[in-house]
Amino acid sequence: MVAGATTLVRVKVLVIGGGAREHALCRSLSLDPDVTSLHCAPGNAGIAEVAELHQVDALDGAAVAGLAVSIGADFVIVGPEAPLVAGVADAVRARGIDCFGPSKEAAELEGSKAFAKDVMAVAGVPTARSYVCTNAEEIDRALDAFGAPYVVKDDGLAAGKGVVVTGDVAGARAHALACVAAPGRVVIEEYLDGPEVSLFAVTDGETVVPLQPAQDFKRALDGDEGPNTGGMGAYSPLPWADPKLIDEVERTVLQPTVDELRRRGTPFAGLLYAGLAITSRGVRVIEFNARFGDPETQVVLARLRTPLAGLLRAAATGQLAAYPALRWSEGAAVTVVIASFNYPDTPRTGDPITGLDAIASLGGDAYVLHAGTRREDDGRVVSAGGRVLSVTATGADLAVARERAYQAVDCVGLDGGHHRSDIAAAVAGA
Ligand code: AMP
Repeated sequence: MVAGATTLVRVKVLVIGGGAREHALCRSLSLDPDVTSLHCAPGNAGIAEVAELHQVDALDGAAVAGLAVSIGADFVIVGPEAPLVAGVADAVRARGIDCFGPSKEAAELEGSKAFAKDVMAVAGVPTARSYVCTNAEEIDRALDAFGAPYVVKDDGLAAGKGVVVTGDVAGARAHALACVAAPGRVVIEEYLDGPEVSLFAVTDGETVVPLQPAQDFKRALDGDEGPNTGGMGAYSPLPWADPKLIDEVERTVLQPTVDELRRRGTPFAGLLYAGLAITSRGVRVIEFNARFGDPETQVVLARLRTPLAGLLRAAATGQLAAYPALRWSEGAAVTVVIASFNYPDTPRTGDPITGLDAIASLGGDAYVLHAGTRREDDGRVVSAGGRVLSVTATGADLAVARERAYQAVDCVGLDGGHHRSDIAAAVAGA
């Protein structure tokens, strides 16, 4: 055993966030014998079953740090991007508490697509050619230069919904003009074809430890139709991916990016998420995120056998170089998101959710991770957001995991709710 695995034990953990990603994190932490007590703010109805919930403004660094101090937490994990970009991890560290999550400066890798493009250019990381535009003339020139299909990205955070990919130049132009009107900048880039892969890596700013890859489904409707969403489902592993993919991405994408941010004096310690396209010309980065992805986390953590708290704390304290190799289940995991009526437009909330007990009785291979849910005073669980549940299942292979996941989805009642019926269908031979 190495120091990193033996000294970083017996922790009281506070998780910031309240989506299915945070429920997945809390579920794994609740199964970790080194976690003595688990807290979450604000959490949701599902997380309340494994952690003590607290109310806090997750974007207010002083408030989050104050909460961590008041409950005696010795480790804080920040789930969503917005608090990271707002500097919440820095505020926690300033109070002397270990925190998993990059600094405000390093989180710009996700907070600004233009910043990420600059880091990639300097680090030699393969990505789509792009222009950063600030006015109509530059927009027209960039759209002309790349041709259809057009890819237009809001420069700032948009919860996965600020990207328009379209063959229609008028639609592309309209979105680009709306973006420059709001944050002032828009990124227009070449279209990347080929399957997408999400690869997460835990890093302490120097050492990079890749996790297993996953694929998510961004469009709202079956057959990859409809608008982009935060994500409607995911699976892992990827039977079609080259086994050398992880090593290649570590060498050509993850390590050079981490090295470049350290060189700039803003080391990135936390979760580096590379959204990749496997094109005919090789791997290209579509985007970076500065935190665990949702819903990929649900399937990646379902397969991780290494206890989570020690791994994340080693990243937060600069001790990854000596960390033991990660352990993974040989099996597969599938997650299917159930979204509320009218998601991703203006989702309706307050609808009762039924059938959760029936899933519990299916056995531990299928379980529900809550996203936008709330428990009413009368005990009923109701929808409280756009994505409501991530129904997750594991199995010996993708076909078994998928079948279990959809069996569990069938148990759920949510008026007006919708889900995709083709998550992992192609890879499971369905
Ligand atoms: P992003 O927020 O950058 O991950 O973009 C959301 C989604 O838009 C991605 O998962 C892709 O499906 C799509 N997308 C983004 N950039 C490109 C690109 N250059 N070429 C093709 N599709 C893209």
